[in-house]
Amino acid sequence: MTNDRGQLSKTSLRFYSLGGGNEVGRSCHILQYKGKTVMLDAGVHPAHQGLASLPFYDEFDLSTVDVLLISHFHLDHAASLPYVMQRTNFRGRVFMTHPTKAIYRWLLSDFVKVTSIGSTSFSDKDENLYTDEDLAESFDRIETIDFHSTIDVNGIKFVAFHAGHVLGAAMFQVEIAGLKILFTGDYSRETDRHLNSAEVPPSSSDVLIVESTFGTATHEPRINREKKLTQLIHSTVMRGGRVLLPVFALGRAQEIMLILDEYWSQHADELGNGQVPVFYASNLAKKCMSVFQTYVNMMNDDIRKKFRDSQSNPFIFKNISYLKNLDEFQDFGPSVMLASPGMLQNGLSRDLLEKWCPGEKNLVLITGYSVEGTMAKFIMLEPDTIPSINNPEINIPRRCQIEEISFAAHVDFRENLEFIEKVGARNIILVHGESNPMGRLKSALLSNFSALKNTEDEVRVFNPRNCISVDLEFKGVKVAKAIGNIVDEVSSTLHGLKELESRSDVKPQKEHGEGDGEPKDVEDETIVAGILVSDEKNFDLNLVSLSDLRDYHMDLSTTVLRERQTVSIDCKKELLYWHLCQMFGDMEVLIDDAGITHKGESKPNGSDELELKIMGDVKLNVIKNVATLEWSQGIINDTVADSIMAILLSVDSSPSSVKMSSRSCEHDHSHEQDQHNDLWKIKQIARLCTEQFGDCFSYKLDESGQDIKGSITMGKNTAVINLTQLKVEECNSNPLKGRIESILSIGSDLVAPLC
Ligand SMILES: [Zn+2]
Ligand SMILES: [Zn+2]
Repeated sequence: MTNDRGQLSKTSLRFYSLGGGNEVGRSCHILQYKGKTVMLDAGVHPAHQGLASLPFYDEFDLSTVDVLLISHFHLDHAASLPYVMQRTNFRGRVFMTHPTKAIYRWLLSDFVKVTSIGSTSFSDKDENLYTDEDLAESFDRIETIDFHSTIDVNGIKFVAFHAGHVLGAAMFQVEIAGLKILFTGDYSRETDRHLNSAEVPPSSSDVLIVESTFGTATHEPRINREKKLTQLIHSTVMRGGRVLLPVFALGRAQEIMLILDEYWSQHADELGNGQVPVFYASNLAKKCMSVFQTYVNMMNDDIRKKFRDSQSNPFIFKNISYLKNLDEFQDFGPSVMLASPGMLQNGLSRDLLEKWCPGEKNLVLITGYSVEGTMAKFIMLEPDTIPSINNPEINIPRRCQIEEISFAAHVDFRENLEFIEKVGARNIILVHGESNPMGRLKSALLSNFSALKNTEDEVRVFNPRNCISVDLEFKGVKVAKAIGNIVDEVSSTLHGLKELESRSDVKPQKEHGEGDGEPKDVEDETIVAGILVSDEKNFDLNLVSLSDLRDYHMDLSTTVLRERQTVSIDCKKELLYWHLCQMFGDMEVLIDDAGITHKGESKPNGSDELELKIMGDVKLNVIKNVATLEWSQGIINDTVADSIMAILLSVDSSPSSVKMSSRSCEHDHSHEQDQHNDLWKIKQIARLCTEQFGDCFSYKLDESGQDIKGSITMGKNTAVINLTQLKVEECNSNPLKGRIESILSIGSDLVAPLC
C-alpha cells in the first residue's frame, strides 16, 4: 500500500482511490498535481455500516485537499461529506450542482435517521458517522456550480457537464497547469423518460476517470425492458400477487413511476379502474418530489414539453399514491409498491420484503444496481430463506418470484466505449466497478486500442485498488493565453489570412501550447510576439503586449536596460569620425571640442572631447584615447553598437584608414566604395533576419552583380527576400510576410542614412 508519503515528481499526476477502487460504493478519489490536491466524491459503502462504510480517510491527510467536487447526490458518492467537513481536518472548498445540493439535504437527513436507527439496534452510539447538527452546519459551506461555467480555485479550474444518470449529476473536467482530467462520476448515455444523456465535453482530456459498473455487459434495448417490466407487473397483479420494487428514493424511482403511471392510464380497464393501487413508499417522497418539480427545466425536451403543454407537472402522478410509512397501508389485495431503500438493507422496502417474500404469488422486482454484500444482491440468488433484520434469530422462508430488469442509469459497454473514444484521453483510470467486470472492461479496452500500442498515442488503462496510487508522467504542458491587445492583433491577422486563403479550417487560435510534443499543422499557427508572464501560483501563462503589461499585471513594470562599453582606441578622432560617417551618415554632434566635425562650434579647451549620437539612441563619447559607448538595449541599438564597436576596434589597423584619413565624408564616393556600402547594408539586413529567424533563414552572397536573395523556410511557410531591394518577393503566409516586411523596414531605417 502506498500513500502520500512517496515522493511525487513535479510533472507527475498522482491518482488514488480512498474508495470506489475495484468496488461499487464509497466513491472517493484523490488527484495531486503540481502541489494542488483535488478530491472527487465522498460516499459511503451501502453494504457496510458506521465507520466501516467510509472511504479510507485515515490513509490520506485531508487537510491538504484544496477542492472537493461531489458528482451527484447518491449515497455512494455524497453521504460521507458531512463527516469529512465536520469530523476531520479537511479545510478545502466543496462544490456540487444546485439540484444535487437541494436533494442532498433531504437524502442525508433521512440517512442520519436510518443509520441512527440501525446503530441503536447494535447499541453502539459511536457508529453514528455524524448528526443532524453536523449536516446543518456543513450544508451552508457547500458551494454550488452551474453547468458549463468554469470555476478557478487557486489555479485549479473545473467545469461541470451533464452526466445523465440522475437529476443534477455532473461530470467534472478539472484543469491544473494545462493538464486536463475528466471524471465521469456515474453516467448514462441513454435519453430516458426524464433525463438527457451525458455530454461529451468539447475540449479533450489527458486523463479520463470513468465508471465501469457494467463492465463489458450490454443493455437490452430500453423499449424491450419497459415492456418486460410492465408485463411482469401486470401478470403478477392479475394472479392476485403483490409487487415489490425496491428503489432508491430518488432518480430511478421517478423514472419507474413515469413508466407505470403511463401504463396504468393506458390499461385502466384491465387493471380494474383503480382496483390495483400503485404506491410509492418513502419518508422523502413528497419533499424530493417538490425538488423534482422545481428542476423540470433541467430535464429532457420530452418532460419539458409535457410540462408546458399540459400545464401540469409530469411528476404529479394520477395513478400513484404516496405512503410516508406502512401504518396507513391497508394490505388487502394485489398492489404495486415502490419502496426505498433500493438495496433492501433496512427501512420500508426491507419490512415489505420480509412481509411478502413467503407468498409465492408475489414478485420482488429489482430494477437498480445492487452492490455486493447487500440484501438486494443476496435475494437475486433466490435463497430459500432470508434473515429477519429486527430478529436475526428468525429465518423467513422465501417463495416469491425474484426478477431483475435493470433500469440503472449507467452506461453499458458499447456506450462506455463510444464515450471513451470520443473523449480521446490516452490515460484511462477505471473506477466504480466490482473487480471482475472492471477487469473485463480493462481487457476489452486494451484490445480495442491495441493498434496504438507502442506508438505516441498508446492508450493506457488502469484499474487500481483502493489506496494504490497511479503515477502518470507528463511533459510540462504549457499553454499561454493571449490577453489584451494581442488577441485583436491575432484575430485581425487571422481574419486577413482567412480572406486571403479562403480556407474554412483556419481557426482563430487564442491559445498556443506545446502538448505532448504533438506535431502541429504549421499552417494553423500564427506567430505572436509579446511578453510571456508566468504566474507560478495559479499556473497562468499569459501573453500580453508591452503596452498592456501594466493593465494585466499590476505588479510588473518594464525596465529599460542601458548598456555601456568602454574601449581604448589608437587613432585620431578625425579618422574615427570619417569611418563613422561612412557607415552611418549624418550623426548628431553633442560635443566637439576640437571642431573635427565642422558642425559643432570649435571650443578648444584642452579637453578635446567628442560626443556623437548615432542612429537615434547610441551615444559615443571619446576623450583622449578612451571611447565609451552607451545605448538602451534593443535589437536595433545592439546592432548599431556592435557595428560602432567593430569600427572602434579595427580603425587603426584598417589599410584604408590611412588612405582615407585625409578625406572627409563630404567627398564624392568612388564606385568601389558604393559597392562596399551595399554589401555592408545587405550583411546588416541578413544579420537582423538571422537574429529573428535563426537557422530558418539563409542567404548567399553572389558576386555576379545580381540582386542578393535570402530565403526563409518555417515548416510549410516559405519566403524569398530580395535583400538588395529590401522586398519580399514570394511568401505563402501573410503573417510571415508581415513579419519580414517589418524587419526589412527596421533594417532599411538602420542602413538608410549612409552617405
Ligand atoms: Zn449514482
Ligand atoms: Zn454510484
